[in-house]
Amino acid sequence: MSLQGKVALVTGAASGIGEQCARKLAAQGAAVVIADLNLANAQKVAGDIEASGGKALAVSMDVTSEEAVEAGIAQAVSKLGGIDVLVSNAGIQIVNPIENYAFADWKKMLAIHLDGAFLTTKAAIRHMYASGKGGSIIYMGSVHSHEASKLKSAYVTAKHGLLGLARVVAKEGGPRGVRANVVCPGFVRTPLVDKQIPEQAKELGITEAQVVKDVMLKETVDGEFTTVDDVANTVAFLAGFESAALTGQSIVVSHGWFMQ
Ligand code: NAD
Repeated sequence: MSLQGKVALVTGAASGIGEQCARKLAAQGAAVVIADLNLANAQKVAGDIEASGGKALAVSMDVTSEEAVEAGIAQAVSKLGGIDVLVSNAGIQIVNPIENYAFADWKKMLAIHLDGAFLTTKAAIRHMYASGKGGSIIYMGSVHSHEASKLKSAYVTAKHGLLGLARVVAKEGGPRGVRANVVCPGFVRTPLVDKQIPEQAKELGITEAQVVKDVMLKETVDGEFTTVDDVANTVAFLAGFESAALTGQSIVVSHGWFMQ
């Protein structure tokens, strides 16, 4: 399915999963907006995409700020002519047992994962409606949209919340051609996960190798990490899927860690 002529905005696209999603969507013909807190890295990714013949625009965006989201989306629309695909992907991880979980960290987690998804949806969907063409909104959930793990109260809460948001957006947007789905990856080796391995080892009193084998990959069918490419392929599939036959769903890409 070609994305030729489409504009896709990916948040958190300066690193990891978001970066690969942006590269994949660009390779399929979309003009991509690399929206990230880290503008220098966003510009590097956009430069690479342009150098390989794609079209890309780097935009500075803190997804927790309504003003920044509105400004970034307005910039994308004025330079590229609209928004057809939104990938709400920006995210961080903070692990701690709940009795030690700082309220400020809880609020920060919910702001990035949930406020970010709400604000980018609100800003982008208006343009999808106005164009008369609808669009595809893809939220970066997680196996933690369906499963719980120790130490991750805020993350699991936020990722479960995205399922609810996607279902509402699917219902509201359906009559106007907007689809909304959640992609739910298992563990992917990105900076977000690399940071967690020593933190979890310390909290759980086990080695880093045990965190990988006995915590992160224990329930998979083959002991393998999911890759950024696995996730980006799923996002590209949802971005290009043209009908509302596939909306309000979550697709789990996790080597069988979670089966629905
Ligand atoms: P990453 O750390 O490699 O990249 C995250 C990007 O988000 C960074 O470029 C960062 O600058 C950006 N970001 C952080 N806060 C932001 C903000 N307020 N506004 C805009 N950008 C911001 O992480 P990743 O592993 O690629 O994670 C991306 C998404 O995938 C997250 O939502 C994460 O929860 C989800 N996810 C990751 C995994 C995994 O194992 N890595 C698994 C399931 C889901």
